[in-house]
Amino acid sequence: MSETETPTVSLIRGDGIGPEIAAATLRALDAAGAKLRFEEVPAGMGAVDTDKDPLPQKTIDSITRNRLALKGPLGTPVGSGFRSVNVALRQQFDLYANLRPARTLAGVPSRYSGVDIIVVRENTEDLYAGVEHYVDPRRQAAESIAIITRYGSTRIAEYAYEYARRHGRKKVAAVHKANIMKLSNGLFLECCREVAKRYPDIQSEEIIVDACCMKLVVAPEKVDMIVTMNLFGDIISDLTAGLIGGLGVAPAANIGVDAAIFEAVHGTAPDIAGQGLANPTALMLSAAMLLDHVKQDAAAARLRKGVHAALADDASRTGDLKGKANTAGFTDAVLRAMD
Ligand code: NAD
Repeated sequence: MSETETPTVSLIRGDGIGPEIAAATLRALDAAGAKLRFEEVPAGMGAVDTDKDPLPQKTIDSITRNRLALKGPLGTPVGSGFRSVNVALRQQFDLYANLRPARTLAGVPSRYSGVDIIVVRENTEDLYAGVEHYVDPRRQAAESIAIITRYGSTRIAEYAYEYARRHGRKKVAAVHKANIMKLSNGLFLECCREVAKRYPDIQSEEIIVDACCMKLVVAPEKVDMIVTMNLFGDIISDLTAGLIGGLGVAPAANIGVDAAIFEAVHGTAPDIAGQGLANPTALMLSAAMLLDHVKQDAAAARLRKGVHAALADDASRTGDLKGKANTAGFTDAVLRAMD
């Protein structure tokens, strides 16, 4: 996509605090000079009310057409037989790469400083392939099967190394447990090694997942990029979010060949929904990742500058980050800092 095009983005405002943080993010995108058109589509509990389906076909059609979506958090109706929309979107668009940056944010309370980690999680395989069964009719034992393929492992490693090259990152660590799961994790590692050979400009290392977790809590500033399988990636990416102040500030992208969906990591926060108190940081930073994706670098930098400045000041941080502002006050500060 060239910088002169104006891409259309499918916008899912989401449930709970979704509409509040989406409105704040749209204001910030506009002020940052983003050239985007939005096509609003329903999903989640709101769509169950209006369309009797948490993921209506028109929403799938819109994302198929636009290949880009910005999404607020969605509530999944519990015990109603409806599928999880997040899982359905991942499958529908083969969103194989989950990209989770964790960067220290000045002013955000956290135990560490100097953290700047990118986790690239394979999003479609492993224990999430859904191959599970009881071993015996009396349900005394159950089995879950991890599916790791050469195709899936190679494409996630390629994604990680390409990302490293494009963003000037120095080192990619393949995280695994191949000492125990010699075949499945061994295959993942073998694919990472093969891909690594094609990127001599990027340093490569291999870390066993348990050692990686210790390194992340002891010296996170020494970790650059991680590429890993689905389950380890799920756990490690929340761990890295914890290193920088929690899920409330953690952005994410789900990238596939035919679509990319950008979303905050946190949920619908029903306890504060509708009160104007929600922190829009994670969705704003996810929107900045969308701008990176469509190569609107200047707008992305402007948006991040605004968010970082607003976070750095007690008076403009939201209550979840021990600040005094509400959603509107924080967003005003983001806009002011862009000037
Ligand atoms: P949650 O992330 O919604 O809330 C956990 C706590 O963090 C709450 O106290 C909440 O107030 C706070 N919080 C979260 N985001 C915040 C924000 N932006 N600003 C201020 N405070 C914030 O997790 P939960 O309560 O376990 O889940 C609630 C609902 O969200 C469930 O229905 C769950 O299925 C859904 N969910 C959706 C997604 C998604 O769509 N990506 C992700 C996680 C959970």
